[in-house]
Amino acid sequence: MPDLPVSELLELDRRHVWHPYGPMPGRVEPLVVESASGVRLQLAEGSGELVDGMSSWWSAIHGYNHPVLNEAAREQLGRMSHVMFGGLTHEPAVRLAKLLVDMSPDGLEHVFLADSGSVSVEVAVKMCLQYWRSLGRSGKQRLLTWRGGYHGDTWQPMSVCDPEGGMHELWSGVLPRQVFVDAPPAEYEESYAEQLRSAIERHADELAAVIVEPVVQGAGGMRFHSPAYLRVLREACDAHDVLLVFDEIATGFGRTGALFAAEHAAVTPDVMCVGKALTGGYMTMAATLCTSRVADGISQGEVPVLAHGPTFMGNPLAASVACASIELLLGQDWLGEVKRIEAGLRDGLAPALEIPGVKDVRVLGAIGVVQLDHAVDMKAATDAAVREGVWLRPFRDLIYTMPPYVTGDADVARIARAVCAAAREG
Ligand code: PMP
Repeated sequence: MPDLPVSELLELDRRHVWHPYGPMPGRVEPLVVESASGVRLQLAEGSGELVDGMSSWWSAIHGYNHPVLNEAAREQLGRMSHVMFGGLTHEPAVRLAKLLVDMSPDGLEHVFLADSGSVSVEVAVKMCLQYWRSLGRSGKQRLLTWRGGYHGDTWQPMSVCDPEGGMHELWSGVLPRQVFVDAPPAEYEESYAEQLRSAIERHADELAAVIVEPVVQGAGGMRFHSPAYLRVLREACDAHDVLLVFDEIATGFGRTGALFAAEHAAVTPDVMCVGKALTGGYMTMAATLCTSRVADGISQGEVPVLAHGPTFMGNPLAASVACASIELLLGQDWLGEVKRIEAGLRDGLAPALEIPGVKDVRVLGAIGVVQLDHAVDMKAATDAAVREGVWLRPFRDLIYTMPPYVTGDADVARIARAVCAAAREG
């Protein structure tokens, strides 16, 4: 492939390419990445390298260009990169489903292999709505969720993202109308638990499900909360015939110090979405898991099928890499690595509390967050991190990091220094 000069590439990018949430007003020129290896992104035309403090948005847990994942992709490429999943099946998809069932909270037995996180949430919602229809309770078609959440950019997921001041406010009049409860406080408060219980009870007749991000609300604000609220949700959902969906797309595969955040509360949801780190960030794939109760309910309906079947469902290349990524994760002391990064971030981010304008510093597992008391200047904060040799993506009032689990101690310290520099200058 010919290498375009960076200036030309950026000009074409500006003219033709939409980036996430683009085109950005006052757009910040993107950096051109030529390659990536380990925890480092190599910039084009010898502009240096950056330690990736973002794991490409929670996904590249093993780092880039990993020999085991490369080999899994290469080996599968030699067999088939894709084949339709309707009426056909193959070992990578079946092995992946079995791995997911074995590693996830007990009781999740059935796996839908989606092609992105947002689609896995669409499928989760469809499962829940269809379950109640199948049981003849078609009044139960709404969802209850927390304010400050984020579940993706397609239609149903958008309807359960933060409705006010959130990324999808533009659509608030036309999206399905869901039930919102305040975001949970960090610590357990019985009065808030009571608020949750009574909202579920009050709306039970129209609720198909409660859907939440367990323990960490990610893109909607990087807030952490007590796992005890998950038990409150489980009990209230059981008491009032409401299904419980956990969106573990960001939190799954060890990020919070448990394989899935649900484990912090020893709770099994009825439906669980995973994505992002599922393939170690190599390929686009996500999954929706559900219990036999949900799957059997759907099968008993007038229309006994889950009518969803994307072209790239069960993609063998992605499934092979996902199997290799999960085996790589489970075959190592992943918890030790996450705890090591947690300790490094705690040490390295503690000084941020002294920086004027910093409101809060929080760390959980391999996630570190500095919250400002003002909207961050994205360009100034990003530039400050880049000067420290680190890639971060600040937004709203947040500067945060979730490094790959293979990030060494010196690089964790460097990332923490970059977060502090971004907080000072952003
Ligand atoms: N749910 C959560 C919790 C997420 O963090 C994201 C992605 N940021 C999504 C859903 C949507 O996933 P995707 O971007 O793969 O569609």
